[in-house]
Amino acid sequence: MLTYRFKLYKSKNDKYLEAYNNIACEIWNHCIALERRYYRLFGKHQNKYALMKHLTKLKRLPKYAHWKKLNSQAIQNVVERIDRSYKAFFDHVKQKKGGRKSPPHFCKKKNYKSFTLKQTGYVIDGNSAYIMGRRYKLFKSRNIEGAIKTVTVKKMPTGDWYLCVTTDHEAKRNYARTGNSVGMDFGFKDFLVLSDSVKIQSPEYLKQSLSELKRLSRNLSLKTEGSRNYEKVKRQLAKLHEHIASQRRDFFFKLANDLCRKYDIIGIEDLSLKGMQALWGRKESDLAYGEFVQILEYVAASADKKVVKIDRWAPSTKTCSECGCRVELSLKDRTWICPHCGAVHDRDVNAAINIRNLALAA
Ligand SMILES: [Zn+2]
Repeated sequence: MLTYRFKLYKSKNDKYLEAYNNIACEIWNHCIALERRYYRLFGKHQNKYALMKHLTKLKRLPKYAHWKKLNSQAIQNVVERIDRSYKAFFDHVKQKKGGRKSPPHFCKKKNYKSFTLKQTGYVIDGNSAYIMGRRYKLFKSRNIEGAIKTVTVKKMPTGDWYLCVTTDHEAKRNYARTGNSVGMDFGFKDFLVLSDSVKIQSPEYLKQSLSELKRLSRNLSLKTEGSRNYEKVKRQLAKLHEHIASQRRDFFFKLANDLCRKYDIIGIEDLSLKGMQALWGRKESDLAYGEFVQILEYVAASADKKVVKIDRWAPSTKTCSECGCRVELSLKDRTWICPHCGAVHDRDVNAAINIRNLALAA
């Protein structure tokens, strides 16, 4: 599966996308209310088929007649999203896996972000997309390969609309076997530290955007909420967030491709947030950590290479990679000498070597 993102040119037809999105939101909230009532009465949640049947009946009533404007598969998709959310929540309750910690909740229209079409309701033809029969122009950056599975129409915080087109195309990368393996530590100072002592920093342009982000955020906090200036800065901020996200995605893809070209086995720490927080600041770190790992796993899978996740509690930092003895280190100790075998270690490289060894053992 491959997902393409295309930005749509501003159009007078945008108001229809807004209307469809609002209907999807209304249906979402209606279903949540139903599910909650059902849960109170019967102590379980209703399955998606029963919900779908109920909605089909409602559409016949004058009060809900406007729901018919939204493609019925898009309505079905709202029900499926709710179903998935409840399943993830109940899985979490049963401790089967992490999942989501709270059941799905009501959503305001302005926060509802997207609706999804399956086989019908869209046509993509050259640089044009027809959504429910109305034409929108695409910034078409790439040709679409494979058969289209779903089209998600998505509203960004900047007010721009995007199409996310998912196809069944399997991108294959022909990277040769190298016989090499590597361990990586999300460094404190550097973005990544590799077990062969290579340190990878986040690119300068990304750092510049991040300081601009700080400046705008500070600027926004000085404006009166709701004022025209406030709205203006808020839009600028949303635009910059979008810009940073796409710069970061490009950087991550390039890095992931480089790593998969060089190594057959890549060991990483599972869920280490410490380095990311130092590097990106809190808000960015939440997105960045998971995103890089996801991209790396995606690229590795398409290149037939292996990513091995090491238990985050494994003492990779505080073990000497030469002799295996445990040491006590404080965060200040950037380099240290093993009291047992005398090896001199760079803190992050030593950790990366341990991660590599654990990955190879796994
Ligand atoms: Zn040692």
